[in-house]
Parts: sequence; structure tokens; C-alpha cells
Amino acid sequence: MRTLTGIQPSGSLHIGNYFGAIKPALAAQSEGDCFFVIVDYHSMTSLTDGPRRRANTREAALDWLACGIDLERSVFWKQSAVPEVCELTWILGTLAPMGLLERAHSYKDKVARGISPHFGLFAYPVLMAADILAFDAERVPVGKDQKQHVEMTRDLAAKFNQTYGQTFVIPEYESRYGVATVPGLDGQKMSKSYGNTLEIFGEEKLMRQKIMSIVMDSRTREEPKPDADQNTAIQLFRLVAPEAVAADYEARLRAGGLGYGDLKKALFEHYWEFFAPFRKKRAELAADPAYVDHVLAEGAARAREVASSVMKRVRNATGLD
Ligand code: ATP
Ligand code: MG
Repeated sequence: MRTLTGIQPSGSLHIGNYFGAIKPALAAQSEGDCFFVIVDYHSMTSLTDGPRRRANTREAALDWLACGIDLERSVFWKQSAVPEVCELTWILGTLAPMGLLERAHSYKDKVARGISPHFGLFAYPVLMAADILAFDAERVPVGKDQKQHVEMTRDLAAKFNQTYGQTFVIPEYESRYGVATVPGLDGQKMSKSYGNTLEIFGEEKLMRQKIMSIVMDSRTREEPKPDADQNTAIQLFRLVAPEAVAADYEARLRAGGLGYGDLKKALFEHYWEFFAPFRKKRAELAADPAYVDHVLAEGAARAREVASSVMKRVRNATGLD
């Protein structure tokens, strides 16, 4: 079973990335080979600062490695080191109906937020399909926001196979161990581009401030809150604290008598403790400034080998050889 997933270097990695994609992907390392990619081409749809992208890419690589990538079992590289995916994007694009791309939730959400769309944003799902199909991935662990993109990938793969003959593996969306959507500080989906994130490796004081700023309603400490399970802090609590502790806080909030300030303080402590071993690992890895470049270069060579052989099949099937 081959697993593949990607993260954009569009900003620092946050706990939505961790619980939605990184954690389930790392769990797959014990079940087969894994392909993990920092999708820097994708980040161009929202970030137009080159030095920032370069810095973000290194930081994201360190973050992800510190979370537990096992380089013996997994291939880890950055997308632009395997430019074959751009060639495949064009080829798949010729089979992607406009109507399909116009229905993409992620595209529609970004437009609704006032982001003025360009071709790259519109074509995002086709590039993502190329990322997945170029590596014969069978399973793609991603957050719920990406589920539709994986479905589009399946459609494109099937359409290619029908048109040009059996070429691609049809991948599956995977959400088995993941959390569908982690809410951000404002209660909406946590996203790098929405400025509502809690970073995996943020600075202590700032992370405390961020948690204290989680948006709450104006109900008082004494009021019972029957919707306690919907509370953003409680939802985050469940991710970082032992189940019984989270359940206890939820029950106390429901009953009334637990102040939001106390809830947030406890949330911070659990969050900070949860990621403590990852921080330690990250500090060790960061001590050698050449480490990340070395890892990514090695990963790129392995990834490129796989993509080249898949592209041979594609070129052959399409008469481009
Ligand atoms: P951007 O705002 O630039 O799109 P992002 O924060 O959404 O960034 P991505 O790099 O687009 O992060 O997504 C990387 C992975 O993390 C994807 O699998 C995505 O589904 C998952 N993910 C992102 N945000 C969340 C979230 N809030 N809850 C669960 N999974 C998430
Ligand atoms: Mg995203």
C-alpha cells in the first residue's frame, strides 16, 4: 500500500495540519511505503514572496521531520524538485472539464473570501492530481477540505485510463486516523492563509496569547452551556489532552461554573505538553544546518525515479514518446 500526502509551505505548520494530515500519514509508515511532499508549486497560488517560500520550505521540512518522518521507510522531498508533475498537470488538464473545476469547494471558498482568482488557483486540483498520480499513490490521507480534490483526482485518473488505456492507479481518500476539520482560533477551519492558526512549534508566549484569544461567546461563567461540545477550545482540548481530562472539562463547561479563561489556561498547558517531545526533536535536527537540504535532495532523487517511470507510461500512452 503506497501512501502520499503533501503540505504547502504557505506558512508555519499548525495543529490542523498535524491532526488532519501529518498524524494519519505518519501512522501509515508502518503499513507500506510513504511519499511525503512539501508542495511549493501549490504555495505559489497564495504566496508570491520567493525568500519567504524558501524559508518556509525549510521550516516546514524541519517541522514535519520533527513530527516523526522515518526516512528509512519514507520518501520526503519538495515538489518543485520533480518538475515532471508540471508536465503531467498539462496532460491531465486537457481532460479536466471546466465544470468540474468550477465546482471545487476550496476554489469557491477562496474566491468568496475575496481572493481574486487566477489560472493557478483554478488549476490547483489538477496539479494535486498530478502529484498523486505521478507516484502511483494508492492512499491519500488529508483533511476534509481536500477530500473533494482527491475525488477529482480519481475522476481524472479514470478518465485518462478510459481515454488512453490503463495507466494510473486510482487512489483512495483516507481519513481513518485523521480529524476531519480542526477549528481555528476564530472557529472557522484552521488555515495558514486565514491567520487563525495555532502552530505546532510556535513560541511559548505567543502561543499562550493565541489560545487566550480563541473566540468565545458572551455567556457568563455560571451559565450552563448545553452546546459545550461545539466549543472551539473544547474541540482543541480533545486533540491534545487525555480523553478523560477533556471529557471532564467538557462536562464542567456544560454544567456551568467553568470560566472560559480557566478552560483556555488548561488548554494551553495540555497543548504545550503534547508537543514537547516534538520540540525537543526539532531542536536536535535544527542543530545541523545542512541536514534538511541533504534529506530533501536525497528524497528528490528517489521521488524523481518513480515519477520518471510513471511519465514513461504516460508519454507512451499519449503518443508523446
Ligand atoms: P492554506 O491556507 O495555504 O491552504 P492550510 O493551512 O489549509 O494552508 P495545506 O497545506 O493547504 O494547509 O494543507 C495541508 C494538509 O493539512 C491537507 O491535507 C489539509 O487537508 C490538512 N489541513 C489543513 N487545515 C486543516 C484543518 N483545519 N483541519 C484538518 N486538516 C487540515
Ligand atoms: Mg489548504
